[in-house]
Amino acid sequence: MKKADCIFCKIANGEIPSRTIYEDEQFRVILDLSPATKGHALILPKEHADNLFELPEDVATDAMKVAKKVGALLRDKLNADGLNLVQNNGAEAGQTVMHFHLHLIPRYKEDGQNINWNPTAPSAEELDTICKQIVE
Ligand code: 5GP
Ligand code: ZN
Repeated sequence: MKKADCIFCKIANGEIPSRTIYEDEQFRVILDLSPATKGHALILPKEHADNLFELPEDVATDAMKVAKKVGALLRDKLNADGLNLVQNNGAEAGQTVMHFHLHLIPRYKEDGQNINWNPTAPSAEELDTICKQIVE
């Protein structure tokens, strides 16, 4: 289903023009308007899902296939040295557009970007507790 007031639904389905670098029946891949690096692209499913939790399993699987294909295209055409896949779910995780999208961020030597987190240092006991909490 498309969502009426969703900008990525409109872009994915061609109602709003975009710089499309790949398209198939299920997805459109567009250049991000505020890219982290040269070639930063977004994989958009044509069917609306707010986030990964709502995304049908087969679409999630196929999104990763598109990431592999278009990631290689970006590497080859733009001479990228690496690639980050980034995917935010929920405002607290940095999601600003509530239509599932997978970022493809080509990386270049000394591109000045820092797509990372601050490592913390839990004790072994704390890690054990978290592990139990998840598994049990
Ligand atoms: P998020 O923070 O939700 O993971 O990422 C949203 C991304 O969409 C941002 O990188 C932002 O630059 C990009 N973006 C937002 N609106 C538009 C738009 O209308 N067109 C394009 N091409 N990118 C957009
Ligand atoms: Zn949508």
